[in-house]
Order: sequence, then C-alpha cells, then structure tokens
Amino acid sequence: MRLQGKRAFVTAAGQGIGRAIADRFAAEGAEVTATDLRADLLAGLTGRTFALDVTDKAALQAAIIEAAPDILVNCAGFVHSGTIAEATDAEFDFALNLNVRSQFHAMQAVLPGMVERGGGSIVNIASVVSSIIAAPNRFVYGMSKAAIIGMTKSVAIDYVTKGVRVNCICPGTVDSPSLHDRLRATGDYEAAKAAFIARQPMGRIGTPGEIAALAVYLGSDESGFTTGQAHVIDGGWAVG
Ligand code: NAD
Repeated sequence: MRLQGKRAFVTAAGQGIGRAIADRFAAEGAEVTATDLRADLLAGLTGRTFALDVTDKAALQAAIIEAAPDILVNCAGFVHSGTIAEATDAEFDFALNLNVRSQFHAMQAVLPGMVERGGGSIVNIASVVSSIIAAPNRFVYGMSKAAIIGMTKSVAIDYVTKGVRVNCICPGTVDSPSLHDRLRATGDYEAAKAAFIARQPMGRIGTPGEIAALAVYLGSDESGFTTGQAHVIDGGWAVG
C-alpha cells in the first residue's frame, strides 16, 4: 500500500486518466476525494465524491482547503483542435481558464496547508504536446499545456525547501472517452485512429492505468527526490 495514510484530491476523476488515478490511489491505500464536473461519472469510485467545476475558483479552493490533501492531482483539461488560423479568442480563453488557471487556483489553495502539515506532492496533468513536442492542429492546446510545465517548475522552485514537491505528467496519446470523441470528430474514426497509432513508435496508444502508475509514484514518498520535472510518458513519441 504505497499511499497508506495519505489524503488525495483528484479533479476530473469521472473518466479517463483522472478516474484511473482515483482508482489506483484508493487501491494503494489513499483516502481519496474524487471530483468531476459531472457527478454521474463518479459512481463506483471509492472515497468521497462530489461535483466540482474547476473553473469555479471559490468552490475549487474551498473544497481543497476542506479536504486538506497530502497529494493534489490537477487533471481537468480540454483538447481544442485546429491551427492558429482557426483558433478563436473564446477557445484561447476557455483553454486558459480550464487547463491552466484552474491549476493555478488549486495549487494556491493547497500550498499553505501542505506547508503547515510538513509537505505534500502536487501532480499536474500536462501533455507531451506542449513545450516538449508539437502535434498538428493543437495550437491552443499546446499553448495551455506548455503553461502548465512553466507553472509546475515555478512552484517547485519556490517550495522546494518547504517539503512540497510539484511535478507534472506529460502523457502522449492515451485511450480515454474524449480521445474517441476527437477521433469521431475527424469524420473518419478508423483513419484517424490509424494515424494516431502510426505516430507511436510502440505501435499503440497508452492506457489510463499506465498514467496512473506514474501518478502513484509521484504522489508517494518513493519519488521524494523528484520535483519540478515534466515526466514524459508517451510510448516513445517524443524520442523522435
Ligand atoms: P477525458 O477528456 O475523457 O475526460 C475529462 C474529464 O474532465 C471528464 O470526466 C469531464 O467531465 C471532466 N471535466 C471537464 N470539464 C471540467 C471542469 N470544468 N471541472 C471539472 N471536471 C471537468 O479524460 P482524459 O483524456 O483522460 O484527459 C484528462 C487529462 O489528461 C486532461 O487534462 C488532458 O488534457 C490530459 N491528457 C490526455 C491525453 C489523452 O490522450 N487522453 C493526453 C495527454 C494529456
């Protein structure tokens, strides 16, 4: 039980990577607070569950302060498609609010308590599509995920002497409900799926469980010497 005795708070735990993390954390002994925009998606998870929109600053910060977690996982995010030519201000603002500002607010809320309690671990979900590599048609998304890496490093350096570690996970393409939505949205699901798989050196996309395994490591004391890093987990996509 690698997370025994730890309290964890997870956003976007209803499906995909967030759900796998909430499940795995509970299996490793953590006391989990699992939240999502959609309460119906939280059915079946172990621990405390409730609806939470991470773009609602007051609700997000109050929930985190109340839960007083040792591990915070900021998972909520949305993928916009398109090049800079197609990007709208509304999409840009939406991505900044959901993907970036929510993590800023969540970290701001959790840090004083973590410092007071002697430390903690923050795990932000970024993406390998960020400042690490580009993917076609991911202008707004790549911008937002690069910002997460910058925030992660900044908070890590400011809290490194206070016992708080801050890392981000940079997944490649991972099988999740929204991935299937994106494949369908191309108009040719099978061709889009084949193209996504073709860009993977391992010849397959990742599973949410594989990302959750890294989150367990980063949340646990096993990773006590790691902070401020962007941990790539992408089946070799970024290798070149
Ligand atoms: P997903 O996109 O299938 O599900 C997203 C979840 O977020 C849903 O349960 C949804 O209800 C919830 N959500 C949406 N808006 C919310 C809000 N305002 N407040 C709280 N919850 C909200 O899941 P996924 O594909 O596993 O993605 C999870 C995270 O991982 C995202 O940040 C995504 O950018 C990142 N990521 C995913 C992939 C991938 O290929 N799936 C790759 C890299 C990074």
